Amino acid sequence: MKNIVIIATGGTIAGSGIASSYKAGQIDVNEILATIPRINELASIRLIDFCQKDSNDITEKDWLGLRSLCYALGCDKEVDGIVITHGTDSFEETAYFLNLTLDIDKPVVMTGAMRPATATSADGPMNLYEAVALACRPKAKDAGVLAVFADTIYSGRDITKTNSLKTNAFDMGDVGML
Ligand code: ASP
Repeated sequence: MKNIVIIATGGTIAGSGIASSYKAGQIDVNEILATIPRINELASIRLIDFCQKDSNDITEKDWLGLRSLCYALGCDKEVDGIVITHGTDSFEETAYFLNLTLDIDKPVVMTGAMRPATATSADGPMNLYEAVALACRPKAKDAGVLAVFADTIYSGRDITKTNSLKTNAFDMGDVGML
């Protein structure tokens, strides 16, 4: 079984509250993992709480810290892949930065959600499950930073948020999805 590290940074995937008055980055990702026990059949999972932020508050310092953490995990023989949970508002900026600056050959897959963890039909659990599944795949190695949302694989270089309401809120323009 692969060893996957999930780095949590907050965002709506860890959000709590009713409708549009929810707050991002409130819920421990362990609570989300507990709702999808079969994720433990995919991989052995370790969670690192990097920060609990709305992604509008992610700073360059956070980017550098994330990059260093991913690099250290990339050098750790006990780690097969990395999943990063992140808010969607500055998702593409973090994905682009990591894609440009990370030079590791292990899968790095980012994901998030459009509905808070407390919502009816929260999309975070399935996105997280699919991100972990992708991070286990040999084909996800040496592929740059990848992203998963709504059953779709994106490149961290080209992903763009194009919608603020739908669960499939991202696009890659003319490039098409991976
Ligand atoms: N404001 C939230 C964030 O970017 C939105 C989201 O995650 O979808 O953290």
